[in-house]
Amino acid sequence: MKKVIILCTLFVSMLLLTMCQKDVGTIVETPIAVPMEKKSEQPAKEAIEKTIEEPTGKPAETPVAKVIEKPIQKPAVKAPQEPIQKPAAKEVLSQSFEYHPIDKEIEKIINGVSWKQNNTVKIDDLCYVKVTYWGFDDKPHIGELIVSKDIGKEVIEIFKELYAAKFPIEKMKLIDEYDAVDSKSMEDNNTSAFCYREVDGKPGKLSKHSYGIAIDINPVQNPYVYKDKVSPESGRAYLNREKLAKGMITGKDACYKAFTSRGWSWGGNWKYEKDYQHFQK
Ligand SMILES: [Zn+2]
Repeated sequence: MKKVIILCTLFVSMLLLTMCQKDVGTIVETPIAVPMEKKSEQPAKEAIEKTIEEPTGKPAETPVAKVIEKPIQKPAVKAPQEPIQKPAAKEVLSQSFEYHPIDKEIEKIINGVSWKQNNTVKIDDLCYVKVTYWGFDDKPHIGELIVSKDIGKEVIEIFKELYAAKFPIEKMKLIDEYDAVDSKSMEDNNTSAFCYREVDGKPGKLSKHSYGIAIDINPVQNPYVYKDKVSPESGRAYLNREKLAKGMITGKDACYKAFTSRGWSWGGNWKYEKDYQHFQK
């Protein structure tokens, strides 16, 4: 019996041992599993924290950069474009005051017409002038003149002054549009300057217009007068210089002042003949 009891207790103890081993194993396994999970969670959290920190660090910079970039770009692009374009366009449309050497295009127009082959005045001695003037219709117009290149700048100044004073001028085309015939240009009340020609009635004597240093303004309201001769004929209506008319030069007006203040002489001051349209340098 003792042997049987001993064997039974051994068997039971063996069973208990194996059971205990299993329990220990499960207990050991779980603590390992928990720290494994915790370890794997911690780096994940750190990583999240880092990714949160890094983006917040970077975004904190990038928004600043973007905020700075945007306001600079927007006003730099939008604001200056509109105000610059608009006044520039208005100025170009309403005013033009420029002079430049005679180019091939102008040479084609004047060669053989207002300029002829001669030994006194070369085409290179002249310049082409473009100015804005107030018309008889009280609107600005663009006019053309050809003058000596030596006075191009001064002529621009004169016509700027006339424009500012709103002195009215009816027309300002190159005399070539009238075949360089002075009487035709005058009858049309055209303001002009250069024309290679002799003084009317004085063969062989070159007019100041031949050198581009004389300008005739509104010939109808300011005719040439010598004894009974009036040129142009339609200028007879303006022989009474006291009776003021649009575009008339009186000797006290803005036109007279603009020329004479720069050393030009006026035909209206001549003694025996009067050339009210005529200024010469
Ligand atoms: Zn003249």
